[in-house]
Amino acid sequence: MLKIKDLHASVEGKEILKGLNLDVKAGEIHAIMGPNGAGKSTLANIVAGKEEYEVTGGEILLEGEDIDELAAEERAHNGVFLSFQYPVEIPGVTVTNFMKTAINETRKAQGLEEMPAKDMLKKIREKSELLEIDRKFLSRSLNEGFSGGEKKRNEIFQMAMMEPKLAILDETDSGLDIDALRIVANGVNKLKSPENAIVVITHYQRLLDYIVPDFVHVLYDGKIVKSGTKELALELEEKGYDWIKEEINA
Ligand code: ADP
Ligand code: MG
Ligand code: MG
Repeated sequence: MLKIKDLHASVEGKEILKGLNLDVKAGEIHAIMGPNGAGKSTLANIVAGKEEYEVTGGEILLEGEDIDELAAEERAHNGVFLSFQYPVEIPGVTVTNFMKTAINETRKAQGLEEMPAKDMLKKIREKSELLEIDRKFLSRSLNEGFSGGEKKRNEIFQMAMMEPKLAILDETDSGLDIDALRIVANGVNKLKSPENAIVVITHYQRLLDYIVPDFVHVLYDGKIVKSGTKELALELEEKGYDWIKEEINA
């Protein structure tokens, strides 16, 4: 699904990613952990195609195709979903209407007709039931006065509706209370399928109490320096990141 080879990238002339390799197959959940400033969000933004980041070397392949030349919007249309770290408030636009527009825009870009209203409603019903989202929530104005948990709920609902091939959830260090963590984790567990891949970026091991990743990677100083299974996350929880530093410098 996603293959990253020897990726080098910089922001404002400063090299942040320094030869990163990652291989994510369909059906897998990968967790990327690492200390603050390691480059986790940079990686997410680069895969999503954010413009401020400059790729200076290496390759990013989505289903075998180099996506380097594609704009963020085109990547989204090709099935890449990045959770919004700072979701905008759109007064007067409901959660549902925002979603309808997003889906129809994507379909248009793919050369498809608008989704018939009946199918759209069915999909909204299915996904909201799956994620236990109530009707009242769906008719609220997007992000207006949303709590942290509600923002997460909305994000996960967007992910469920868009049915991305590759979902990247960048769980920033701030503002994730236990309810929000559970919402994210439940969503990820329910949306996992043999057809998609999910990359969860997290500073905290706690999220992995609820999601069982197939692989855990440590991103440190712009590279994946260690990969393992869930045990690695437990080890990080217990020992922090310093031992990784020592291992690298040894
Ligand atoms: P993490 O998500 O692992 O905490 P980031 O990817 O956010 O790390 O940041 C890695 C480094 O890149 C940091 O030194 C950060 O200051 C820098 N950086 C990230 N994004 C930008 C940006 N848009 N402009 C300037 N520096 C940035
Ligand atoms: Mg950070
Ligand atoms: Mg970050």
